[in-house]
Amino acid sequence: MVPIIIIRYGELTTKSKNRIDFIKQLKINIKYALSDYQEIKIIHFHDRIELTNLSLAIMNDVINILVKIFGISSLSPAFSIDKNIEVLSEKVMSLFLNQDLTNAKTFKLFVSRSDKSFPLNSEQIIKIIAAMILKRTNLKVNVINPDLKINIKVNKEDIYLFANKITGAGGLPVGSSGKVLLLLSGGIDSPVAAYKLMKRGLQVQYLHFATPPFTLPAALKKVETLVQILAPYNAGSKNLYICNFTNLQNELTHLKKENYRIILMRRMFIRIANLFAEKYKIQALATGEALGQVASQTLASINAINIVATLPILRSLITEDKFDIINIAKKIGTYKTSILPFADCCSLFVPKNPVTQPKIKECQLLENELKQLIDWEQILINTFNEIEKRL
Ligand code: ATP
Ligand code: MG
Repeated sequence: MVPIIIIRYGELTTKSKNRIDFIKQLKINIKYALSDYQEIKIIHFHDRIELTNLSLAIMNDVINILVKIFGISSLSPAFSIDKNIEVLSEKVMSLFLNQDLTNAKTFKLFVSRSDKSFPLNSEQIIKIIAAMILKRTNLKVNVINPDLKINIKVNKEDIYLFANKITGAGGLPVGSSGKVLLLLSGGIDSPVAAYKLMKRGLQVQYLHFATPPFTLPAALKKVETLVQILAPYNAGSKNLYICNFTNLQNELTHLKKENYRIILMRRMFIRIANLFAEKYKIQALATGEALGQVASQTLASINAINIVATLPILRSLITEDKFDIINIAKKIGTYKTSILPFADCCSLFVPKNPVTQPKIKECQLLENELKQLIDWEQILINTFNEIEKRL
């Protein structure tokens, strides 16, 4: 009896054209995630991946890693057993039907047979195994909503035996949709935005704007921690870049209209992110903006920000409720870090009454006025050139 893990692709199987690439990417991501377990063999088939050469001792740890990998719809720890109905019956009993281990009251058998030369067909196998279970336990059959699903798969070489499926992370394998540059703030929203982008197969890189000494090293540490928490979902990738925005921030304080300060700051963020993404051949930007959440997240603000972008800005949370975002943040483990009280530059420099309906013309006018005072475009390029890789 050999333990294995069966991994199912889900959504992948419907995408015929790119399928091979998806499976390849998923296999790479699984291999990377399991790099501490070099002995595990990863074998792919058209409808599943199987992990073999596993010991029972590492099974739970491996499953905990796999459930964070996008592109996996479900997985099952399973046993490969000899192709013999007596052996099969005994294994069903010993593995699943020990009354001390299961609270199940009802069961259903699922049998599939890819080896048609096996002397018993699926119906005959069901009859034999079901009769045995009914005789030797108190379990009853329930075909609609069974507590215990017992799956038997007759292959060419062996028989697989497994119980209820474990739900996977779903989505598409990270990397199969390309790369995106996310503006990561350290708040609740942008890490959740990252998670949702990863789920659609995007590998996320991060750009964080800091304004030392106004923002503290602890705020940077917080962003680092968030990136580390997100790494298992991001095919292990970190790629956190820090932009020191202090010089530009100082210039923005010269603005006549204080209420436009945040919106102009956001336009600067986007301009810098554009340059960065173009340099690293990243095809889109992303933010954690959600419509109506704060004053700066109105359609007018989004327009005023968007107009300076040369790449699409993916806003994966745009229609989400705060409540739902918080729930995802808790589920993926970023919430506790996000609520640590270290201000980022947006919260530090927020004016008393930020404009909620900014006019694009006014933004341009103010930027032109500022240009009369200082060459902010040059400062912006210098700022971009000083971006540092943190992780
Ligand atoms: P978050 O919870 O992600 O901080 P928020 O609800 O606080 O979002 P804003 O402060 O308006 O909203 O920020 C909107 C988006 O702008 C953020 O989701 C993030 O993508 C980006 N952003 C804000 N501040 C920074 C920063 N210091 N560095 C990088 N990106 C930032
Ligand atoms: Mg914020």
